[in-house]
Amino acid sequence: MTHDTPEFDVIARYFTRPAANAVLGVGDDCALVDVANGMDLAVSVDTMVSGTHFFADVDPETLGHKALAVNLSDMAAMGAMPYWAMLALTLPQVDHAWLRAFAKGFFDLAEEFDVSLIGGDTTRGPLTMTVTIMGEVPAGAALRRSGAKAGNDVWVSGRIGDAALAVAHRHGKVVLAEDDYREAVLHLYEPVPRVALGQALRGLATAAIDVSDGLLADLGHICKLSGVGATVELAALPLSPIGARHVASAAGRAAIVAGGDDYELCFTAHPNSRESIADIGRMLDVPLTHIGQVKRGRGVSLVGPDGKTLKIDGRGFDHFSPS
Ligand code: ADP
Ligand code: MG
Repeated sequence: MTHDTPEFDVIARYFTRPAANAVLGVGDDCALVDVANGMDLAVSVDTMVSGTHFFADVDPETLGHKALAVNLSDMAAMGAMPYWAMLALTLPQVDHAWLRAFAKGFFDLAEEFDVSLIGGDTTRGPLTMTVTIMGEVPAGAALRRSGAKAGNDVWVSGRIGDAALAVAHRHGKVVLAEDDYREAVLHLYEPVPRVALGQALRGLATAAIDVSDGLLADLGHICKLSGVGATVELAALPLSPIGARHVASAAGRAAIVAGGDDYELCFTAHPNSRESIADIGRMLDVPLTHIGQVKRGRGVSLVGPDGKTLKIDGRGFDHFSPS
């Protein structure tokens, strides 16, 4: 029996677990962690807001998974090893069934990646969850967005487009068959962060990013920071059978190349690295596909099978762009 106030009861019941890899976890004013010699501390934060990042009817276990998964994906994109997470949770009310399911989704994924929840904040308000993730990367070895060079290959992991097709279906922009929607929505709600891949690409990828806002927009971020341009071949994109059924329509194609939420890695590498990259794909059992080239210049263009540039409506998600 606990005599805590509701806020502390929530923290104690749902979010206090032993933090094996921290000096001090939940309960004090700060958590304490020990960063190994020769390592840089990699830190990232992501917020998910109800109605913006997820539909209000999403199952809380899925939300718990996704709140952490999108942060693990940032660690992956940096080639970093995730260790510690912090969770700032804003709740409209204390709903024990909701909290139990949310914590299960969060901790199941945390355990899978040996990540400890070492602190956070619990407040009342519109449902919002902010996760900060921290990890280590050997000093100087992080996969930045700024290292792409003209002549590099552009690669992407996994399959692109299913998550965005599920969103487009919910918004009435494309119509997926019932089974296809059920399958696509799994990619939206339960992305698999490519943590092992990110680490394996250290020393090979010249730049990397995770695909959260849309393939073309995210590759555009690499290009901008690297001072280069890129082309992507539509025919080279790794599509699922669902994607293949919708790529011919303008709305389907836009979702695939400009919708986001795949949480796959897009990276660039020298053509000499092709065999090593193929080996990594086989070793980790992750499809890795060469989808385009880095060029001199700026901007990303999508090239159709006839060699002509394809126009796409909407090039990626931006919270402050008028829609
Ligand atoms: P403070 O008053 O210093 O902000 P709090 O009262 O907010 O501390 O939190 C008490 C302890 O519980 C802290 O160690 C904090 O990191 C942790 N904590 C609060 N909310 C969460 C949460 N949702 N998940 C994990 N730890 C949390
Ligand atoms: Mg606090």
